[in-house]
Amino acid sequence: MTKVKESEKQLQVVAETDVLVCGGGPAGFIAAIAAARNGASTMLVERYGFLGGMATVGLVGPISKFRCKGELIVGGIPWEFIQRMERNNGAIADLPSGNIPFDPEVYKLIAMQMVRESGVDLLLHAYVVGCIQEEKQDGKLSHVIIESKSGRQAIHAKMIIDCTGDADVAAQAGFDFERSNSEEGETQPMTLYFRMGGVDTDRIDKLLMSHDDTKYAHQRMKEALARARADGLLPNFGGPWLVHGSTIQKGEVSANVTRFPGNAIDVRSLTEAECMTRENMFQLIPFMKEVLPEWKDAYLISSSTQVGIRESRRIKGLYQMTADDILTPQPFPDSVGKGAHPIDIHSSKDNTQHVVFVEEPYNIAYRSLVPVGSVNVLVAGRCVSATKEAFGSMRVQAQCMALGQAAGTAAALCVRHDCAVHGLDGAELREVLTIQGAIV
Ligand SMILES: Cc1cc2nc3c(=O)[nH]c(=O)nc-3n(C[C@H](O)[C@H](O)[C@H](O)COP(=O)(O)OP(=O)(O)OC[C@H]3O[C@@H](n4cnc5c(N)ncnc54)[C@H](O)[C@@H]3O)c2cc1C
Repeated sequence: MTKVKESEKQLQVVAETDVLVCGGGPAGFIAAIAAARNGASTMLVERYGFLGGMATVGLVGPISKFRCKGELIVGGIPWEFIQRMERNNGAIADLPSGNIPFDPEVYKLIAMQMVRESGVDLLLHAYVVGCIQEEKQDGKLSHVIIESKSGRQAIHAKMIIDCTGDADVAAQAGFDFERSNSEEGETQPMTLYFRMGGVDTDRIDKLLMSHDDTKYAHQRMKEALARARADGLLPNFGGPWLVHGSTIQKGEVSANVTRFPGNAIDVRSLTEAECMTRENMFQLIPFMKEVLPEWKDAYLISSSTQVGIRESRRIKGLYQMTADDILTPQPFPDSVGKGAHPIDIHSSKDNTQHVVFVEEPYNIAYRSLVPVGSVNVLVAGRCVSATKEAFGSMRVQAQCMALGQAAGTAAALCVRHDCAVHGLDGAELREVLTIQGAIV
């Protein structure tokens, strides 16, 4: 591959802020609210024209996992958000499983309102493309570079929280990350979600994921799809999970069926994923209509704005969460959130899924949000430091939100105390989070 040198440019510094949150998904918009409510001037930069990440961009639902055995395990700002969605007819919040089906349009509205009400400076349609290292201070960033219709610009920030899902900022800054620690380096497959209307939902038994069973897939449909795949008529598929996930309307179902192996941080691979899953969606729909009577009048309402990314980069943090931490919970001195979703790993080679159920809530250490060598960068969401197995549980949305609140609060405290992310007192962070309703 030939190379070309880009000429040096002077960039306009368009904002100065205490805390800059990059990426407005479940982790990012909650992180921004938390930082602002804790007194930091806060900016949130998102590449799309709305917030919600995989929940709205990817139509991924339900939101897992707010409860374990009926008990709330994620409180604070994430729970406030869910309750507000429910009051606006945008969520079903009381399922004992803690899986929350929702309306993505209500999600976009409430997330945006809560962000703006908390005083966050929201910048949409801005892509984070780089960062500038503070002079003579390893591990400390002074600016993040964005690109938008306004051109290439810089934002100065005291603290930066990477909530891009793909650890874009951490990778640009040169912090270590891994894609997967399985033998083949395989990541979980990408999936283009879609929503169908005209389904006879009264006749589908487990429309709501009200049970603690993520393995639940539509069995009759699964068998029919598997037969068609064996005959070479259909592509690889997952599930199919055909439930009230990113819809709560009668007659509507969100479909998690397509499955594409690839590398979500390689633009060619991403392009192929978009093209193939879109082709696959149109192969699957007529078949689904034909196989099951409750689907005979079904029609496509919409597909996700982009293919859903389950797994890409995970940072190497001061602490790496492991399967042991998930299955045999330990009381970390800096525990900042809880999870209970099964270890849930989808194969990208076939339609299988590896699931290990979690018996009791586990704790998540603040140190798993701190990249090794970082002075003023934290991460939250699906790019935290975890082994592939631990990640299989921690990657779900409620846990990303809880870590968002932890990172936003931590960043505001670091600004207040003028300290590095690795120097923050975990006990103080836990105390502030607890006072503010988080379950740590
Ligand atoms: C097919 C599939 C099924 C899933 N099933 C479930 C489920 O049933 N329940 C559940 O709870 N979770 C599920 N998940 C997992 C969950 O959706 C994600 O792990 C979660 O959304 C991660 O949140 P996040 O905020 O870390 O990242 P994301 O949701 O990926 O959000 C990242 C945000 O950052 C923005 N961004 C990215 N890069 C940049 C950049 N360079 N500049 C500016 N903005 C940027 C993105 O546009 C996005 O808004 C599923 C995921 C997939 C793909």
